[in-house]
Amino acid sequence: MTKTDAEKILQLLKKTFAMPKWAAAKKEPFETLIMTIISQNTAGRNTAKAFENLSKQFEIAPEALANAKTNQIEECLKVAGLYKNKAKAIKQISRIILERFHGTLRPILSMSFEEARKTLLQLPGVGPKTADVVLLFCSEKPTIPVDTHVNRVSKRLSLAPDNGDYEAVRESLQLLYTPKDYLAVHVLLISLGRKYCKARNPLCKQCPLNMLCPSSNKKPKKC
Ligand code: SF4
Repeated sequence: MTKTDAEKILQLLKKTFAMPKWAAAKKEPFETLIMTIISQNTAGRNTAKAFENLSKQFEIAPEALANAKTNQIEECLKVAGLYKNKAKAIKQISRIILERFHGTLRPILSMSFEEARKTLLQLPGVGPKTADVVLLFCSEKPTIPVDTHVNRVSKRLSLAPDNGDYEAVRESLQLLYTPKDYLAVHVLLISLGRKYCKARNPLCKQCPLNMLCPSSNKKPKKC
């Protein structure tokens, strides 16, 4: 895929989908971190419900969650998958942020991109996608989080290598686009994946990108 073709894809995506309000809204870093941990392997509706349960029970702040009982956090997260692991991670992370970073993620987000990412990745339960979401949405750091939609759609559009892992997909997208567009690339590929480029039955005939897409009307790639 050339940069010119990648740009055509982005322009078409921008014409097709409005940027959702949630993407532009200012996000509180600790809440974003907790929400993204809850969202791991969990559908959006259940993530929102689990976060709502947690918010009703506790202030979403490191001190409150570090001092909460693990079984109380578990109870709030039951609607989400892997809730026991997530509850444990949330409590441990809250304790670390409280003790090592004065109860805020700001010291981490003021580091360079590489250092901030490395520091976030050392927190329990934080993988590359979670770290990248916090860095992009809360600190405008130059990264493109690769969720399940971004991974699948990028590969079908040949924006990323077919067999690429998380880092290969992220790097490929970041080479094709400029940092000012990283947020739009992430958000609009998700919009495309939700509306047209669905995992099992992509709606290629209706898809606005079908003239540009090498996978149009082919059997869906397994990604
Ligand atoms: S044409 Fe089909 S495979 Fe290509 S992006 Fe659109 S829905 Fe996905």
